[in-house]
Amino acid sequence: MTIREHLEERELAYQSPYAVKSRESRGRVRQEPECDIRPAFQRDRDRILHCKAFRRLKQKTQVFLLPKGDHYRTRLTHTLEVSQNARTIAKALRLNEDLVEAIALGHDLGHTPFGHAGERALNQVYHFAHHEQSLRVVEYVEKQGKGLNLTWEVRDGILNHQMAGEPHTLEGQVLQLSDKIAYINHDIDDAIRAGILTERDIPAEYREVLGDSSKNRLNTMVHDVIINSMEKPEIKMSKEVRLAMNGLRKFMFENVYLNPKAKAEEDKAVGLIEQLYDYYILHLELLPQQYLDALECPENCREQIVCDYIAGMTDNYAVKMYEKFFVPKAWKI
Ligand code: MG
Repeated sequence: MTIREHLEERELAYQSPYAVKSRESRGRVRQEPECDIRPAFQRDRDRILHCKAFRRLKQKTQVFLLPKGDHYRTRLTHTLEVSQNARTIAKALRLNEDLVEAIALGHDLGHTPFGHAGERALNQVYHFAHHEQSLRVVEYVEKQGKGLNLTWEVRDGILNHQMAGEPHTLEGQVLQLSDKIAYINHDIDDAIRAGILTERDIPAEYREVLGDSSKNRLNTMVHDVIINSMEKPEIKMSKEVRLAMNGLRKFMFENVYLNPKAKAEEDKAVGLIEQLYDYYILHLELLPQQYLDALECPENCREQIVCDYIAGMTDNYAVKMYEKFFVPKAWKI
């Protein structure tokens, strides 16, 4: 028996009946020999961790564009916080922790530069949704267009992580809720850091239910999911905590995400991405070879390929390309 087979047996003996067992995965699009050490989802987790799109998350906006302070969240640290919340919940519920972690690390790989402003820009010029793009990254874009060949369960969780999605596994549901729990709490923390909010601005009705600090609110939400989902075939919160969390999310939209101070810069980011898009559409020859190769496939239109390329850029790289194409350089002699 291999080490992988031992680990798979352990899952069968230990995990909840509602967990997805690695051995029972619906598998990959391209058949591959199994690893002798790692079960399928653990292997997927490693593939995502080692891919280039994952490393670029460190210079992609979470909420605050190109923050100067080192303590603001980036898309990478957001991803790690989501993963940690999701693993805590999965472990307590005896679900498949490797599956949850793989979905978590992959869920935002398709995010554009400049957060949702970048997403809006690409959706205006063509069609774009970051959860669909995360799936495109793992299926087509990574590994020079070959994709990571992940299991069905990880791809399902990545595609369905957004609010309206309906993941087919409890691990996917854990991720969906953990993402929301993570961003509401860390975005409040960053908004306080940025001087946009103070703790006392948060309505008392939510603080009474959830707690009076980011740490306490995170703790309340994670506990509530665990206690209400124990030995159940679905992942849910108590009504009281769910309503308070959704109220807090609405409060964040009104006061932080759509705050006019942050918005002004966002409109510039939208303009920058739109101009880059128009420029690349007219100058396809500037795309890296991998994207030129993708254009040869009849199912790929140039609009999609340019979106793939721009969505993959970090904030800094997008600014650098904008300067290169649109800002005159000083004469150097
Ligand atoms: Mg996310």
